[in-house]
Amino acid sequence: MGSSVGLGLMEELGASRQPGREIDTSVKRLAVLGATGSIGLNTLDVARRHPQRYQIHTVSARRNVGALADICREFEPTLAIMLEANAAEQLRQVLRNSGCQTRVEQGDEAIECAARAAEIDIVVSAIVGAAALLPTLAAASSGKRILLANKEALVMCGDLVMSEARASGAVVMPVDSEHNAIFQSLPIAESGGVCTDGVEKILLTASGGPFRNTSLEDLRVATVQQALAHPNWSMGPKISVDSATLMNKGLEVIEACRLFDISADQIEVVVHPESIIHSMVRYVDGSVLAQLGRPDMRTPIAHSLAWPERIDAGVAPLDFSQVSGLHFEKPDLERFPALRLAFEALHRGGSAPAVLNAANEVAVESFLAGDVAFLQLAEVVENTLDRVKTATDQDLATIIQADAEARAVATDELARMGVPR
Ligand code: NAD
Ligand code: MG
Repeated sequence: MGSSVGLGLMEELGASRQPGREIDTSVKRLAVLGATGSIGLNTLDVARRHPQRYQIHTVSARRNVGALADICREFEPTLAIMLEANAAEQLRQVLRNSGCQTRVEQGDEAIECAARAAEIDIVVSAIVGAAALLPTLAAASSGKRILLANKEALVMCGDLVMSEARASGAVVMPVDSEHNAIFQSLPIAESGGVCTDGVEKILLTASGGPFRNTSLEDLRVATVQQALAHPNWSMGPKISVDSATLMNKGLEVIEACRLFDISADQIEVVVHPESIIHSMVRYVDGSVLAQLGRPDMRTPIAHSLAWPERIDAGVAPLDFSQVSGLHFEKPDLERFPALRLAFEALHRGGSAPAVLNAANEVAVESFLAGDVAFLQLAEVVENTLDRVKTATDQDLATIIQADAEARAVATDELARMGVPR
């Protein structure tokens, strides 16, 4: 079995090992989509350490003018894109006043366009949610190296993204720490891409989130602030809530199936509260390979940027004398039904994972606004999955329609729970 993760890199790997053959040392131009977010800023921090290797050509954000202006002043990218028009206008003014030459554009089409632009070598897909789907597809169909942090696009229609990447020769590098760890624990096949021959199980680790030891009774009254206080990772609000419900792990199970071309029953979720082992691969001969490191996203980002080389990520070395122990337990599907729902959507197939994802996005937004209770998040997703008919096709039009229908149904579910529309 093989997958297209890393596909195309075999040539680079081969070239780097052949005496007398130079590897490509040209400066790589990056489009950092979602530059003001947690992954975006971590990517810029790694790039900042290697100006001779990486040039920030394009950056994008939704509406955070101050943060994108700071980025433009430091990196002087050619292009900055704001999703929202008034934010773009404000950015233009701020940059004009500070003498920064960066051109400012606006809107989702400009972001998508930047992902396929000829002058870009590497696209960092770090927009949160379904909004990353079209830019990720654009990068996949135009032969880029994609640093894929966003997981929702793969959950919605991962087979499509991966087949577009295969057809164009794009290289998909998983940035999500678990998938990056799996990538690092698998061999590279002759044909390019990782090889999953001889894999018995992928052991996907989960920290368990802030509520690992919280009783069902206390989960009923869990606050936004508690949900956002992840014990090990500092991340954006949506993925933090997903980590608290374990929906994040559910999305990651689907992500792993799409990336590595494996089935759901080849994946086991293991709760590992220390977040030192980022995931493992167990082979049929009993060997288990793992990747370890500090819980710092700059490690998988640097790995994905430079592979097959290694570059400094600014991460302090892991000191084992300071690690008090490594613990493992099974996930509790009763307190965290979101993980069960993700497996169910995966088994249902077709558009069901897209429906799961859309309902979850609507529910999380409502939770973050303080409108719905923590335990109702999974309820909204479950009821939406029950109400929206699963389409078997996974073409883009079908998936976009399923996404829209699921959002409408999830909004209706919230209304039935007393949340104002
Ligand atoms: P974040 O909320 O911190 O940042 C999101 C970025 O996307 C911001 O720059 C924002 O301006 C932009 N954005 C938001 N909505 C947009 C829209 N509709 N159109 C265009 N741009 C938009 O999120 P994050 O934590 O950096 O996560 C980004 C993605 O990476 C998510 O899919 C997440 O699951 C994944 N991921 C994050 C981490 C992490 O450590 N943060 C780890 C693994 C995977
Ligand atoms: Mg992860």
